[in-house]
Amino acid sequence: MNIIGYTESAQGTPFETVTAAGRAMQYPKATTEEIDKAVALAKSAFSSFRFATGIQKAAFLRAIAEEIESLGDELVKTVMAESGLPEGRVTGERGRTCSQLRLFASLVEEGSWVEAVIDHGDPGRQPVPRPDVRRMLVPLGPVVVFTASNFPLAFSTAGGDTASALAAGCPVIVKGHESHPATNELVARAIQRAAKRTDMPEGVFSSLNGDYETGKALVEHPDVAAVAFTGSHRGGKALFDLANRRPKPIPVFAEMGSINPIIIMPRYIRDKSAQLAAQLVGSVTLGAGQFCTNPGLILLPEAKAEDFIHAMKQALSEAAPQCMLNEKIFDAYLGAMRQLLGAGAVEEVFAPSENSSAAVRPTVAKTSAAAFVKNPMLHAEVFGPFTLLVTWRSEEELEALLKSLEGQLTATLFAEGEELLSHGDLLNSMRELAGRLIINGVPTGVEVCHAMQHGGPWPATTDSRFTSVGTGAIRRFARPLAFQNFPDELLPDELKEGNPLGIRRMVG
Ligand code: NAP
Repeated sequence: MNIIGYTESAQGTPFETVTAAGRAMQYPKATTEEIDKAVALAKSAFSSFRFATGIQKAAFLRAIAEEIESLGDELVKTVMAESGLPEGRVTGERGRTCSQLRLFASLVEEGSWVEAVIDHGDPGRQPVPRPDVRRMLVPLGPVVVFTASNFPLAFSTAGGDTASALAAGCPVIVKGHESHPATNELVARAIQRAAKRTDMPEGVFSSLNGDYETGKALVEHPDVAAVAFTGSHRGGKALFDLANRRPKPIPVFAEMGSINPIIIMPRYIRDKSAQLAAQLVGSVTLGAGQFCTNPGLILLPEAKAEDFIHAMKQALSEAAPQCMLNEKIFDAYLGAMRQLLGAGAVEEVFAPSENSSAAVRPTVAKTSAAAFVKNPMLHAEVFGPFTLLVTWRSEEELEALLKSLEGQLTATLFAEGEELLSHGDLLNSMRELAGRLIINGVPTGVEVCHAMQHGGPWPATTDSRFTSVGTGAIRRFARPLAFQNFPDELLPDELKEGNPLGIRRMVG
């Protein structure tokens, strides 16, 4: 079912999709009329929802979390059947989704997220009076959220994009992913119930099924104000280009993946080879490698590589086979791996004798820094349990390699003590490269918190100034608005002289 405002609708022709473990599903593709209706309702909902107080939005977000939790086992079983993800991962992701919703609820309830700034006027200033100027963030308008295949809950229907857009005061229209249509419907109905329970205007949320044409129609719709996307580079770039070709362009916040370089320094690898190998294999194989933060590139000193590779092979041979999200992603994994392995100067270090989408095992390959710098084909993301080891001979070679890389979500350095403190220059090069720098840890497992930055320079995302994880994600869906010479009674509460909401403000 498409969930459109407070109704459900299935006017389009059904089409079939095959989800994880070969489960065939049929669902109706949204028609042009259904798309128009969802956007018209969102537009009309925006006229009141944009003025909803932090307390009202917080009640809505908390009600969504409660409704999701009350789905109980039905939701867990549905996600498992559609995605092939194990129960522990699904319950963990449900917990993350609900705490994310509650975190945004607390953020908007507290209220300081609007970044209020007040510059008092001075009528007596010479040679010209100084105006009274006050600024805060206000919501953009209806947001289209493309749900992600690899997080059926936390980056999907009620995931971080939806939570942050609703928290900002923007109605949301979800374009469901074909990998998990039943999960999408269950969660969309939960949001619909929460909206009714908390008296939200009809159209504050809708969810549509469909394909590329549906997504294209939504991005091109004149009443859509912004787009959030997590997926492939090809998909994100296509939507970004569509949005920029509109007569009235709109922002597309696309998170498109990364190879997340890991740099290991000589003393660290000498002292901790076995422990580090196990830690990195755990990260490479987590969730069958289907994470945008998967460490796809490990840079190690050539002189110390042998022991590490030996320990890594041991850990890889113990990795249990896992189910991939769907056949298409498995095929894309094999295709990307084949291309990289065939690019020349690459040697397979570990490869399973057989692989299938229902039981995938990790693959690791190796090349030299010189070959890697020369051949951009080796820089490609292989979405799945794969990593490329690159051996370097000197720090100059390592620096040149870092300079050859495109924008990344994360960059990690393994070094301790004096070896760490003496590599300030290396850390400075890493700054240019990524949105998050990590010391002695793995990039997978992105903490949902206020300080998190999940984004990075192009092509990791379409806009490195923003994050899609953590409370900072709300800023994507708001714009600054200045009020000049307004009488106090016409100002929003956030900017009134007496600060009735008691929020943090910068006062000049
Ligand atoms: P995808 O192909 O990028 O699709 C994601 C969503 O965007 C789907 O709803 C898709 O519609 C829509 N879409 C893609 N291109 C479009 C276009 N040109 N016009 C309109 N809509 C478009 O991602 P996926 O299917 O989840 O996985 C495919 C590959 O993406 C993976 O193998 C992996 O390489 C990468 N991926 C990356 C991340 C990440 O974290 N960055 C996450 C998941 C996947 P449909 O419903 O028609 O497919």
